[in-house]
Amino acid sequence: MSLKVLKFGGSSVGSAEALRRAAAIVRAELPRGGLVVVSALRGTTDLILEACAAAGLGDLALALDQLAAIQLRHQAVADELGLTQAVATAWAPLFARLDQLLTGMAMLGEATPRGRDSALAVGESLSAHLVALCFDGTFHDVREVMKTDARFGKARPQLEAIRAAAAPWRAALSSGGLWVTQGFLGSSPEGLTTTLGRGGSDTSATLLGEALDAEEVQIWTDVDGVLTADPSLVRGARPIPQMSLGEAEALSAFGARVLHADSLAPGGRAGFRLVVANTLRPDASRTEILPVPPRRPAGAVTSVAYKEGISLLRFPASAGLEPPLEVARSLEEAGALRFGLISSPAGTLLAVRPETHAATEVLGTLAASGLACEAGWAVVALVGEGLRADPVAALRHLAALGQEPIGGLLTGSSTVSIAFLVPESRLGDLIPRLHDRCVSQTIGAINPDEAARR
Ligand code: ASP
Ligand code: MG
Repeated sequence: MSLKVLKFGGSSVGSAEALRRAAAIVRAELPRGGLVVVSALRGTTDLILEACAAAGLGDLALALDQLAAIQLRHQAVADELGLTQAVATAWAPLFARLDQLLTGMAMLGEATPRGRDSALAVGESLSAHLVALCFDGTFHDVREVMKTDARFGKARPQLEAIRAAAAPWRAALSSGGLWVTQGFLGSSPEGLTTTLGRGGSDTSATLLGEALDAEEVQIWTDVDGVLTADPSLVRGARPIPQMSLGEAEALSAFGARVLHADSLAPGGRAGFRLVVANTLRPDASRTEILPVPPRRPAGAVTSVAYKEGISLLRFPASAGLEPPLEVARSLEEAGALRFGLISSPAGTLLAVRPETHAATEVLGTLAASGLACEAGWAVVALVGEGLRADPVAALRHLAALGQEPIGGLLTGSSTVSIAFLVPESRLGDLIPRLHDRCVSQTIGAINPDEAARR
């Protein structure tokens, strides 16, 4: 039997109403069974992290208040679904465990990454048990198969070990049955609980799809698939019916929030279809991300992405390459994302986004030491398979912008995207214009239905 994996994020399982909608989707998509991956109920992961932080500071009372809030929230959803009794046996030991973990952290006055991962597992497991009951499926613990290294907080999956451990799951699922499991969690070689990093349950779903030889992985979220631009800036943003894995990778690298960047690699290796769909409107457009690129006209741009909050660091040519590289490394270690590192005989430019408090501090220290450092920039990327055949098209689009201040061209090794820097303050005007110019013109080619309706 060909297997489908469906993943529901926190907002898709955040309330009784959302869970009922998700259950209907599962009945329609998995009439003969399959695997459902769920993350914690919306907000739970943040609450658990806050509780751990309080416990780590020795404030057990506050930590237990957070635990009580988590408990109340979950009980309310279970009550509304009429599942209070049914879920109690699975939930009681989980709440007790979180209580013990927080108490232990408060006693030690320290919340270690290892302890935090164990606490986070409670949120994912509470959700998966409830969803299993609600969907009439059976719960299976993902830690049986999701083997990782022991880097707590951002564990790396061990692909061979996962595939080997998944053999019994493959066999059982091939004869039907609806299984529900947690996202985000893994287990270290010693069998300790790990997590894949925030937002990691998309990656859980695609890794499981790979290990289970799934034919399709569906990510159910709260938008109509992947859009041609950020709809808060571009009123005419449209869902993209089909896109290539390369386009999806470029989009998540340059700011689209739909899919976690790590979640795309398994589809590239395994060749399954990856679908992004909207729990709120299951019949609305969805995006299929295909291992074999859909045909696009030369020069066609599929989408415009951007990311604000970029800082530019400028090094004089006389500095050579070593200092910029060292700065780039130390910023990345502190949690910054690097958007560009361009060197020419005229000097070196480093574009980074701090992302963490630690990285912001490193930036502050660098600026104080006299390095030229400018905040307030954004990176804008044009993405499309059409750029492979005609990369100059992107430059023509840029030229058409006339006097736009462009702070450097970031091409990288991707042949399906071209990115450049602009001051943040220009985004509101620039993104709609770019979308209008590049994407709207090719929308017919990427979305024939849309063209027919126009
Ligand atoms: N619950 C986890 C988080 O909020 C994992 C996920 O949602 O993907 O980060
Ligand atoms: Mg989530």
